[in-house]
Amino acid sequence: MTVHGLFSSKSAAAARASAIPRIAIVGRGFSGMMTAIALMKIVRTPFHLQLFDPNSSVSGGQALSTTRASTILNTRVRDLSVSKGDADDFNDWLCSNAEFRAAVPAAIPGFRQIFVPKDIFSDYVYQRFSEAFSARRDISVQVCPEPVVAIRRMHSGRFLLESGSPTNPLFDIVVLATGYGLPKAEDRAEDPSPVRAQRLVARPHTVLLGSGIRVVDQLLQLRDTGYGGQVTILSRNGFLPQRHTPNSADPVFPADAMPGNLSDILRFIRKACREAEAEGRSWQSVMNGLRKHARSLWRSLPAREKQQFNRHLRAIYDSHRNRLPEAIHARLQGELASGNTVLRRGVVGRQGLGGLFFRPAGSGADEIVHAERVLDCRCRGPQLTSPMIASLLDEGLALPDELSLGLAVDQYGRPCLDDGSVVEDLFAVGPLGLGSLPDIDLVPEIVSQAYAVAEHAAERVYPCSRAI
Ligand SMILES: Cc1cc2nc3c(=O)[nH]c(=O)nc-3n(C[C@H](O)[C@H](O)[C@H](O)COP(=O)(O)OP(=O)(O)OC[C@H]3O[C@@H](n4cnc5c(N)ncnc54)[C@H](O)[C@@H]3O)c2cc1C
Repeated sequence: MTVHGLFSSKSAAAARASAIPRIAIVGRGFSGMMTAIALMKIVRTPFHLQLFDPNSSVSGGQALSTTRASTILNTRVRDLSVSKGDADDFNDWLCSNAEFRAAVPAAIPGFRQIFVPKDIFSDYVYQRFSEAFSARRDISVQVCPEPVVAIRRMHSGRFLLESGSPTNPLFDIVVLATGYGLPKAEDRAEDPSPVRAQRLVARPHTVLLGSGIRVVDQLLQLRDTGYGGQVTILSRNGFLPQRHTPNSADPVFPADAMPGNLSDILRFIRKACREAEAEGRSWQSVMNGLRKHARSLWRSLPAREKQQFNRHLRAIYDSHRNRLPEAIHARLQGELASGNTVLRRGVVGRQGLGGLFFRPAGSGADEIVHAERVLDCRCRGPQLTSPMIASLLDEGLALPDELSLGLAVDQYGRPCLDDGSVVEDLFAVGPLGLGSLPDIDLVPEIVSQAYAVAEHAAERVYPCSRAI
């Protein structure tokens, strides 16, 4: 759904003319939409909300808009509620959806444990956004289809956002929800340009770069649209996503104190997984339990161990936390077993005239891979070099985290500075805080953070404005 003219019923000009607080959200992917919902529910006094994003689709960030909308999300319905304090909200929404109920009768009376396609989740988020907006006659929402290129703080403490519009007014609160940044032109291309050495390819051959859920998504999309050629997955680490368990995998974790260094922590987690399996539970339950401890654990690690984790363990951690529904995992395994899809570990180099340079793991020499197309499915991290983030760094309004994975932020997403202070009224929600807050790229964590930001914002704009 596109947003042009969507919110014209409430006049932004009226808001500009008055002294009501002005809040900007930069990015309208899941994090931006979720923060908007939380603000509309939590901040009880009037405000003006302005949403910036050149992407024309609502909630059109990477997770919910790329590749097939019918792709199955890898998180269960029970963990995808956008309603604070009502974990069943998404399940209830599905139960009230006659079309969905008719299509998935086996899951009646509830859908908590199942996995649903992205487009259904996207519809749910958008409906909750529309409902939250309809319930507020006292706020105005304006959508700006422009990227924000710079943010500056004025002497008054308010923020100036520079975008394509020459007349942006000042904002009291700014939420950065730019996730993985603006898509590059080549990411948007429907039909990526072929490798020039096409004539050398004996059988149709596609190369996929990466090994996360986007690779699996792309592979199954190719097969579902009738592609019968060879597929080669080239990945630096070779860790494909693990599978979910058919059981509910409720979180469990040992109550014992966690050790203080990385190798002992690893041993501790492996032992916990073995013990859980011996007791008839699953390692997936332990991973779900670990997520609840991830933040305090991450905070306690010295910078050197964080770097070690990033270099050697992050890919393994990601493959165990971003799990595939069983049926999809079985399809992936079937592909690999058939030999029609091959996974190769190593380092991908440049794409030359003769093909793609690739150095297999353990080899000292490059080889050239020929294919009629190469699809890059690697998930980029947040772009610290984007003009908007660069302006924040220049202005001293933010710093990169220790690993430069994103911005250094506190639990609300407020930028942390070298002197131990935080920047008030500026919040980074979602993956921009990934180097400070583990798992903040996942829906449940983004939902909690969005409500925490809204509560904090409510106190900042009017100290008594929180919902009771
Ligand atoms: C394929 C895929 C599947 C996933 N599946 C799941 C799942 O099943 N469960 C789960 O928990 N998590 C899942 N995730 C992770 C999670 O959903 C995402 O991390 C989350 O949705 C991040 O959303 P976001 O809005 O922060 O970022 P993005 O989706 O990247 O959206 C950012 C938005 O900001 C805009 N933007 C960027 N820069 C600017 C700028 N300067 N000015 C204006 N606008 C700007 C972009 O155009 C974009 O629309 C998945 C992720 C991917 C990629």
